[in-house]
Amino acid sequence: MTTIAIIGAGVTGLTCARRLAEAGLRVTVFDKGRGLGGRLATRRVSGLGRSGAQVAAFDHGVQYVTARGADFTSSLERRAALQAAAVWRPRLSQSRVETPDPAPWHVGTPGMSGLAKSWGADLSIALKTRVERIEPDGSGWRLQFDDGSAQGPYDTVVVSTPPSQALDLLPKGAREPFSAIQDVRVAPCWAGLFAFDPQNGLAATAGFDCWRLEEGGSDDVLVWAAHNTSKPGRVGLEAWVVHAGIAWSVAHLEESPEMVAPVLLEGLGALTGYAAPKPAYQAAHRWRYARTIEPLGKPFLSDRAGSFYVGGDWCLGARVECGFDSGAAIAHAILWDAGLADRRAAG
Ligand SMILES: Cc1cc2nc3c(=O)[nH]c(=O)nc-3n(C[C@H](O)[C@H](O)[C@H](O)COP(=O)(O)OP(=O)(O)OC[C@H]3O[C@@H](n4cnc5c(N)ncnc54)[C@H](O)[C@@H]3O)c2cc1C
Repeated sequence: MTTIAIIGAGVTGLTCARRLAEAGLRVTVFDKGRGLGGRLATRRVSGLGRSGAQVAAFDHGVQYVTARGADFTSSLERRAALQAAAVWRPRLSQSRVETPDPAPWHVGTPGMSGLAKSWGADLSIALKTRVERIEPDGSGWRLQFDDGSAQGPYDTVVVSTPPSQALDLLPKGAREPFSAIQDVRVAPCWAGLFAFDPQNGLAATAGFDCWRLEEGGSDDVLVWAAHNTSKPGRVGLEAWVVHAGIAWSVAHLEESPEMVAPVLLEGLGALTGYAAPKPAYQAAHRWRYARTIEPLGKPFLSDRAGSFYVGGDWCLGARVECGFDSGAAIAHAILWDAGLADRRAAG
């Protein structure tokens, strides 16, 4: 039976793995992270408050998900039926909000990573496993991990990491068509995570749950602020997530989270019109590869033999649905080659 290794347990890798596993192929997913989801992430913090008994949770990557295609729409509907997703209807700020995406805005439950957990249910996934190199091994591929161990050979490998990490994993001497990855541009993003005691919170005075500014429209530090606990199914202290704009994130990329968090908190205070009270928890998270600025323009790249694939949201755009579509297209191409699909994928 065909064996497949997928590097990356974000939406791209999980979608691809799910489709292949459902068709009966033997698939293993490897991810260097501690949990599933990649940028579909939720950070949970405990031991907060005076008693040390309080918790807070933050969706510090993806904020919400919208669907334009029928395939992704029905996947979100299935996740909602499984209680892994719900619709978020935030109060939008009346001040300088970019035209909102068309509703509905879906979020994972009880956190954004709930969506990833649902897509990854029942799959064979090795976490905390960083792939360092992928080498040819007979007619297949062997994975070398950073602890010196190796696994394989696999008949087919799918790399679903951000583009610069994918370049590092290409087999030695790989050129066309993979050189096109170098033209893809992805911007970083600094995220701020803040939790407040409810009696000390911002939600009542702010009067909004979500504020967004068009990128590049001004010199403001922040482009996004969300009252995370207004999303369905969230528990714990009043949590806020803010994102800095691309220009600010690039300019401060190598600063420490300890330096960045107070600046983002000040931005949140200015937005709400009040000096932000002292948070019960504050942190900053650096997303080095956050949002695609210049996509590849097709859903994936593969070698001539159809045994090495590279995909990700960056192939098509900057949204979760782009990763979903890329992963689905790779799965379709693999199934086609295995004689298990009834029509050729679009690209
Ligand atoms: C701050 C922020 C806000 C966003 N907001 C939204 C939003 O509101 N709505 C929306 O639709 N999209 C949003 N996005 C974009 C969205 O996150 C992406 O489009 C989508 O999650 C990409 O999924 P992916 O699977 O392609 O990549 P990722 O989620 O990045 O998954 C790649 C995986 O590869 C793993 N990996 C990398 N290298 C290795 C290695 N060597 N070995 C093993 N594993 C490896 C990583 O750990 C990661 O889990 C946002 C992104 C960020 C960062």
